[in-house]
Amino acid sequence: MSVKIATKTQVETVLDKYDTFLFDCDGVLWLGNHLLPSVVETLTLLRSHGKKVIFVTNNSTKSRADYVHKFEKFGIKASSDEIFSSSYATAVYVDSILKLPKDKKVWVLGGSGIQDELKLVGYESIGGSDPTYNKELDLDDPESPIYHLDPQVGAVVVGLDTKINYFKSAVTMQYLNNPEIPFLATNIDSTYPHKGLKLPGAGTCVETIACASGRKPLTSCGKPNPSMMDAIVKAHKIDRSRSIMVGDRLNTDMKFGREGGLATLLVLTGIETVQTLNQLEKDVQPTYYSEKLGDLFELLQ
Ligand code: PLP
Ligand code: CA
Repeated sequence: MSVKIATKTQVETVLDKYDTFLFDCDGVLWLGNHLLPSVVETLTLLRSHGKKVIFVTNNSTKSRADYVHKFEKFGIKASSDEIFSSSYATAVYVDSILKLPKDKKVWVLGGSGIQDELKLVGYESIGGSDPTYNKELDLDDPESPIYHLDPQVGAVVVGLDTKINYFKSAVTMQYLNNPEIPFLATNIDSTYPHKGLKLPGAGTCVETIACASGRKPLTSCGKPNPSMMDAIVKAHKIDRSRSIMVGDRLNTDMKFGREGGLATLLVLTGIETVQTLNQLEKDVQPTYYSEKLGDLFELLQ
């Protein structure tokens, strides 16, 4: 059974047991543009106890540099190396695991965050936020990019593209007609919450392309991919047995923490509820749960 964090002693136990705290962002620190209660105080408290804090988000539309600004807007201090986004995880995957030669390009269906992170590890990308593709596909135009695929493209990355259209989907599919070109997803979240709504997530773009191409992505680079955890462990030299993953979603955050060998804390400020928690089999229950992250600070007062 998951332990509910509801007393000062339980918070003290958590502080004793763990040196590194990994935080999901949306649904844990904030909801859309709204900071959740006592979050800044909790992060300050953890840092004042010498804890390492790391932020892990599946949002691929932004780069880590974009995230630094988002954190600043909320009054949270975070440096680029404390932030792991699925855009960055994808760039690391292309570079370190796929080992795509640097003279190859990446075709991106997704936001500028993916292109920015690819550039930082040395890859040129095309597609993405290029306005050329923000129009109807004209099959009567012999100059249309659909008839002029770039032979340097060596991988396809699909994330959330809020301007997805038929033109971009059709070009993405043409690249994937070549079975030698790997197909990567940044993340496969079906939805994400915003201003009380649930909106279509990156998984819907990935499924569109999977359906058209008849191919499944080789992998999804964001949470719960263990290679993202490996990159975090390597970069920060953390001890998994003294680390805890805090999140609001079972099939991404909690799975990521559990399968990565970390303890887990589910907060109920985002996707999951007590009902979804209670329906879980024993072996996949989070180590702890709490109403909100800010309880760690408030219970100590
Ligand atoms: N994908 C997109 C496009 C989002 O906007 C969000 C949250 O804002 C997410 C995924 C989920 O992000 P997180 O992993 O921080 O909950
Ligand atoms: Ca979340």
